Order: sequence, then structure tokens, then C-alpha cells
Amino acid sequence: MSMRRESMWTSLTGAFDVVVVGGGVTGCGIARDAARRGLRVALVEMNDFAFGTSSRSSKLVHGGLRYLEQYEFNLVFEAVSERRILMDIAPHLVRPLGFLFPVYEHSRHKLWFINAGMWVYDGLSLFRSPQRHQNLDTEELLGEEPLLGREGLTGASLYYDCATDDARITLENALDAANHGACVCSYAQVIGFKTDARGRVRGVEVQDRTSGEKRVIEATAVVNATGPWTDQTLAMSDRGPKKPLLRPTKGVHIVVDHEALPLQHAVLCMHPEDGRVMFAIPWGDQTYIGTTDTDDVNDPSAVYATAEDVSYILEVVKTHFPDSSLTSDQVRSTWAGLRPLMCPVEASSDDVDESTVSREHQIVVGQDGLVTIAGGKLTTYRRMAAEVVDTVIKLLRLSDSMPPGLDASRTDEEPLPGAVGWPADDDRSKVADRARSLSEGRLSLESAMLLTDTYGMSALDVARLLAADPLLAEPIVSGRPELMAQVDWAVRMELANEVSDVLMRRTQLFFRDRDQGLSGVERVGAYMAEMLGWSPERREQSEQAYRQEVALSRGWRD
Ligand code: FAD
Repeated sequence: MSMRRESMWTSLTGAFDVVVVGGGVTGCGIARDAARRGLRVALVEMNDFAFGTSSRSSKLVHGGLRYLEQYEFNLVFEAVSERRILMDIAPHLVRPLGFLFPVYEHSRHKLWFINAGMWVYDGLSLFRSPQRHQNLDTEELLGEEPLLGREGLTGASLYYDCATDDARITLENALDAANHGACVCSYAQVIGFKTDARGRVRGVEVQDRTSGEKRVIEATAVVNATGPWTDQTLAMSDRGPKKPLLRPTKGVHIVVDHEALPLQHAVLCMHPEDGRVMFAIPWGDQTYIGTTDTDDVNDPSAVYATAEDVSYILEVVKTHFPDSSLTSDQVRSTWAGLRPLMCPVEASSDDVDESTVSREHQIVVGQDGLVTIAGGKLTTYRRMAAEVVDTVIKLLRLSDSMPPGLDASRTDEEPLPGAVGWPADDDRSKVADRARSLSEGRLSLESAMLLTDTYGMSALDVARLLAADPLLAEPIVSGRPELMAQVDWAVRMELANEVSDVLMRRTQLFFRDRDQGLSGVERVGAYMAEMLGWSPERREQSEQAYRQEVALSRGWRD
């Protein structure tokens, strides 16, 4: 069964139980959960899935160690529990990563204190953390990370959280929703709500961003899962909350070659100016460092790194790795996103019926029945989604009409598509070996590993494409492991609709290639034009949009 964006737009008609607005990790998680519980679901996203914050995070599935300092044990417990669940349902995408927490003579806390905190952290995960933490003395620490500054260094704690690919975890939720009957349509923007005679929201007006066509879809319930756009979405309803729910802040990361900052582990760093916690994270043949945290009220679609952001990040590197002599010339790429943080003051209680679930996210049901999910983080998306679907089911009093068992979420044990059949011993190389043999020898080991890490068990299907068509074994960018088969797969099976979808979110060439994938743009454009029947103008427009994304990410240089 193919999974193309155009056929989604065609089937986006009629009436649904629930329409979800926003295809970030929250919206895709909601659509998946609702579809698996048997609801008729439509998900509409105005750009590509994970276009917003969900492809611009620090790419960590983590327990939120910093909450321990404020004794927020419930938040940590929730996050470490979700970390374990995501490791089980998406082992190909959520992988353990060692973090070093170096301690200096002048540090706020001594090593014994950090160690005690780590016992609590491991304990709250019921000792099912990816690996138990350990203490390193200075010599051991410098053996692991020789670039760390030595002055005043007293040792470190080595603990474990997980690294992920945020855009792909989002996409796999959307694909699984579609596998269970949902219509998940990208480049479909909600431009208004439809209300009934009593002022209840009963549908949305959507516009196809490519053709301009508009249509109305009816729904018994509508969910606003638009992340940093939450307040803009609420502004389309005249009976929503009067005060903003969010106070978004911008977070920037920079990417450098591994050789420029060669790390074996993620390293937790305190910024010298304000003591904020930041991370330097090894990422294959690269390292990324972030993040900043500044108030930002600009359009979430056009958020970018400034020269100030980049020098703030370089400052933390200089302090912790004084011998690295990293300069702005070595920055290969940047990304920036808005945190959909809730306003410190709770939403006005006169116009909403709110249920505060935790300090990190909130489900708000407006007087018009619009269900808004605000705040949250990538790590806890699954749980947030389950709570939203519970709310929708209660609101619609659907539980009585549902087959027994389906009124409760089971996404904590249902693997994401790429995890179905994944080896119990988590040995990725077995999958990569099978992919190589299915490709009839056309896959290099490096490409086979990349496909396995990207698609999980679906790497085998991508490998079969190579066996059928040797041209698909060509690299997208010369000298790199990403292959043209991935472009084919992205369009045919993963709803890709633009060159940017392929180069930024189906693959990570935008971040990982030294020239951000620019040398592959025409090749990808030509292939997509052929598959999607684009005119020369449409192709040019899609290629140009990608070049603009690259220019935006490099704008800080000007
Ligand atoms: P988004 O991903 O922004 O999705 C909202 C979507 O709604 C967008 O795709 C947008 O195009 C769409 N939309 C908006 N308006 C409309 C409309 N009218 N019609 C249709 N679609 C519309 N969390 C972690 O757990 N771990 C981390 O390491 C981490 N790091 C972070 C680092 C940074 C710098 C930031 C900013 C956040 C980080 N987070 C992290 C938080 C996490 O990334 C977010 O909480 C999460 O991605 C938010 O997802 P979302 O689906 O709510 O929002």
C-alpha cells in the first residue's frame, strides 16, 4: 500500500469523529492513539509533519534531570517511565547515550551530591534506566574526554538518557495513524473553525497549500495541537481563552564536524554567563551543541539563529573545552525552534475549563468545545496524546459505544512501524546484514547501517528497492551514504511532498552534509518531479524553497 500526500488530500472529505490540527509529535501521537482506538480521525498539518518544533529539538528522550534540583519527582518519574516505553516501542529510533556531568571545584554541587541525585534518577526509573550511572575520577574522565578543561576538575558522573531522531519519531506516529485508517494530510492549513447553532466547534476549513483549494471537514471534536502556534490557532475561534496560553522561547543549536569537537559522550555544560545547562552531543561524524533559551514572539515558521545565539553557544564550548579553539567558521549548520512553554500564569479560568495535568502540559477545553493541548515535550508526547484522546472520548461520551478495551490507550505497548520485528537483543547489525543481502550486494555497510537507524525494519523494504533498480543505489550527495532509494521511499511511502521534506526530515542531509545537501537539490528535484508529475515551475519552486531554508539557517553569518 502506498502512502502519498496527494491521495491523503483526496480522501480528506466528509465527517470524522476527531480532526487534529497540527502534525508535530503531539498531533501525530494523538492521531495514532485515536485511530488505534477505532475513532475516525483526520490530521491536518499546514507544512510537512514535524516542520515545527518537533524537528528542531535537542533530539533527546530524557528524564529531565534538572527537575530533581526542584524536587519535582513526579515530573521525573513520568519522563523516565516514558523514556523506557519509547525505548521499547521504538528501539530503532530511541537509543541510549552516555552523558558526562563534569564537576569542578567551583561547581554549585559537589560530586557526592550529584551522585546522590543520580541514585534518585536511576531509582525513579525503577532501575530500568538504559544503564546504571557511575562516578569517574579526574583521570578516568580525561581518559574518556581529553578535551575537557582540567582546571579545578574534580570528576564526573556518567549517566544515561537517550538520543533520537525527533522528525522521524513524529513521522512514524503519522504513518501508523494512517495504517489504522486515519487520513493524515500535510500541506493542509486550517484557516477557520466551523461552529454549530450553539457555538460548538464542529469542523474546520482547510486549504491545500499547493493548489489553493479550500474545503470544509466536519468533525464531532477538534483538537488544537499546534505547538508554538497554539495561540494563533485559538485566535481563529471567538470563544477561546482571552489570554495567551503560551510564552514561547527560542532554542538554537549549532552543528560542527566531529573533528572540530571530538566527543565520545554527551557532555553537560554550564554556561559561564548565566549558569544555564547546555549540552554538547556527539552525532556520528558531527557534534551539535545547544541550546539557547530566549523569549521570542516572532512567527514560528521563520525562526532562525542569530550571530548572538551562535557566539553564546561558542562561549560555552570555549569554557569547557579550552583546547578545542572552535570558531564560528567551523559551524556547518544551525537550527532553531520555539519551545511551546505554557505561560507562568495559568490560563484565565473564567473562559476555560482546564485540567492541569502537570506543570509541563495542560489540556484546555474551550467554551466552544475546542480541545487544546499546550506545552509538553518530545519525551512525554505519547502520554500527552493518550490524555487528550481520553478527554475527547469523555467529551463525546464515546466510551459506551466503543468495543471493550478500546476506550483505553494501549500505545505504551504497541510498537511504532519500524520496530515491528526488531531483534529482541537490539542488534542493529543483524538488520543491516539482512538489508545488504536483500539489496543483492548494492548496499555498502555504511548505507545499510544508516537505513537501519533511519527506518528500523522498514530498511529491508528500502533495500528491496535497490535490488529492483540499481539506479536507486546512487548517493543523493556524492560521497555520502544517503541513497536515491530514500527519495523514492519518501515520496511513495512517507508522504513527502517537497524537496525540503526529503532533505530535512526524511533524511538529515540538511544538518549532516558539509554543504547542507545543496549539491543534491537538483537531483532530488528531478526525481520528485518525475514521480509527482511536477511542471518545471513547480520543481523550481520546491528546489528554491529548500535553498531558502539553507540560507535562513546561515543568515546569522550576515
Ligand atoms: P510542533 O512540533 O511545533 O507542531 C505543531 C505543528 O502545527 C507544526 O508542524 C505546524 O506547522 C502546525 N500548524 C500550526 N498551525 C496550523 C494550522 N493552522 N493548520 C495546520 N497545521 C498547523 N523535548 C524533549 O523531550 N527532548 C528534547 O531534547 C527537547 N529539546 C528541545 C529543544 C528545543 C530548542 C526546543 C524548542 C524544544 C525542545 N523540546 C524537547 C520540546 C519538544 O521539542 C516540543 O515540546 C515538541 O516537539 C512540541 O511538539 P508539538 O507537536 O506540540 O509542536
